[in-house]
Formats: sequence, structure tokens, C-alpha cells
Amino acid sequence: MRGRTARAAGIRPHMVKHSAAEREGISPRLLVSPAEERRAVTEGLLEGRTALVVGVANKRSIAWAIARRLDAAGARCALTFQGERTQRDVERLAGELGRPAPTMTLEVTDDGQADAAVAKAAQELGGIDILVHAVAFALAEDLGGRYVDTSLEGFRTALEISSYSLTALARRVEPHMRERGGGAIVTLSYLAAQRAVPGYNVMGVAKSALESMVRYLAWDLGEAGIRVNAVSAGPVRTLAARGIPGFTEMAEAAAGRSPLRREITAEEVADAALFLVSPLASAITGHVLYVDAGFHAMGL
Ligand code: NAD
Repeated sequence: MRGRTARAAGIRPHMVKHSAAEREGISPRLLVSPAEERRAVTEGLLEGRTALVVGVANKRSIAWAIARRLDAAGARCALTFQGERTQRDVERLAGELGRPAPTMTLEVTDDGQADAAVAKAAQELGGIDILVHAVAFALAEDLGGRYVDTSLEGFRTALEISSYSLTALARRVEPHMRERGGGAIVTLSYLAAQRAVPGYNVMGVAKSALESMVRYLAWDLGEAGIRVNAVSAGPVRTLAARGIPGFTEMAEAAAGRSPLRREITAEEVADAALFLVSPLASAITGHVLYVDAGFHAMGL
């Protein structure tokens, strides 16, 4: 990228380093890191917007990468934490964001907490334009082994927390988004929604329901200008991922068989989430966007 193109992309002269050869005018080259470059091109993209981010547990959480990305693009974020266990970590992380970020407790199975969390976020941020849903849970005994052995309790737990919570939160943010003339919701899925991934079991079933909900919610909320999409992420080493038996082998195998032949990062998932909630995706809704180094495109 050079000259006018670099300026249009928000790349400033101090971000561009020239080698000795370049200084001699041979071949100007952009040497900023990919992360710096991505931040520069999206600066101000979400200026004046507000986002409720659900699913930050620690610095490895995909939701944390998304919160950082939205914050860097100009949005003000509110972060929820799941009970006292993660409160301190989430409050500390919130303090690292560039803009003041209120925090609030949210156990998604508790209607009262869901009402209170959305109301507090709307009040403290002055409205809600964006909802990030990055929540998943299944009983340990239902991950690994055979799907056929899933208990009704295990099924209810996985689907209530990992799928239904999107519907429950979408219903609560809808009036706030309507007040702002529209909004955007993004959730996190995985390829096991579409294919059988041994061991992922009831979480795969929950992700299928989640992706279906994205389509139904897109229809219901579309007339209010509210868009609903999902990012289907390849394996990322997070707390939730550690609960999946054989996760490391799965991640390595996926990396080896992906067109890009590598694992993906939480930051790359966050970039896609930023795109989907931004005006750049204004005609995109009901969509599942794969961020998996191309793994989903492969047959073998
Ligand atoms: P994570 O453990 O950092 O995040 C999961 C979050 O869910 C945590 O913040 C946890 O507090 C929250 N949560 C669980 N049960 C809850 C409940 N009852 N009430 C409120 N919050 C609850 O792990 P992550 O990998 O960042 O997961 C975020 C999302 O990304 C999940 O939907 C996950 O399925 C999805 N995802 C992850 C991967 C991966 O490889 N890590 C790949 C594809 C999709």
C-alpha cells in the first residue's frame, strides 16, 4: 500500500518504516505489523456506537478480543461477568480498554439478571447498538464419549446456556436498538453445527440450534434494522476450549488440513465480528461467516 492508498486506509507516515533500499527510493514497502495495520484501517469505524459484550471470562476469551477490537474502532463497551468467579478479572480487563467500560453480572439462565444487565448497560452507555454473544457451556460428562448417551439434563443445560441465551438477550436488547434506529448482533459458532465432530457432541447440537436462531432472529428483527449474524470460528485455545477432550489434536489437525495451513487467532475472529457489526456489513444478516483458515471448504 502506498501514497494515497495508505492515507485513505488511515496509515500514517509514522507507521511506515522504510528499509535502506526503500530510503534510496528503490521499493517503498509497508512494514507495520498486520495487527497495527488492521487497527489503523478501522479507526473510527464504530465512533459513537455502544456495545454490550457477553462472554468475557479472561484475557484469552474470544469476547475479550472482540471487546478490544470494538473499543479500538471507537465503540464504548459494557462487559458482563458470570458471577464472582470472574468479576475481578473482567473488571481489571475493562480498565484496560481505551474508553470507560461499565461491567455487570450476568448468569444467562437467570431472567432477573438478564433484565438488570441489559438495563444497566443501556443506562450506563446511553443506549445499545451492538450485542456480542460469546457464551457456551455443556456438562463435562456430555463432552467426549458418545452423543447418544447425552442426558435430558445435559441437553437442556447445553442448549439453554449456549443457544437459548442468544434469543433471551436479543429480545431484551431489541427495544434499545429500535430506539437507536437499528443495531447489530453477533454470536460465535463452530463447524460442528454443520458436521459431526466426535467428542463435541451436544455442543454441536447446540451450535446447530444457535445458527438456526441467527436466521429466525434475522427475520424477526430485520424490519427494525437490526442485523443478526454469526462467526463460525476455527479452534482457538481458550478456557471453554480446554473443556473439549482432544482439543489440541483437533486444533493441530484442522491447521494441517486448512488451505492456509495454520491455526487462527482470537484477534482474527474479532476482526470478522467487527466487520459484521459495522456499517460495512449493512446488507448482511442471517449469515454465518467462517473464520477458520478455510478449513470448512475442505472435503478431506
Ligand atoms: P471462554 O471460556 O473464554 O468464554 C465462554 C464464556 O461463556 C465465558 O465468559 C463464560 O463465563 C460464559 N458462560 C458460560 N456459561 C454461562 C452462563 N450460564 N451465564 C453467563 N455466561 C456463561 O471461551 P471462548 O472460546 O472464548 O468461547 C466463546 C464462544 O466462542 C463460545 O460460544 C464458544 O463456543 C465459541 N467458539 C469457541 C471456539 C474455540 O475454539 N475457542 C471455536 C468456535 C466457537
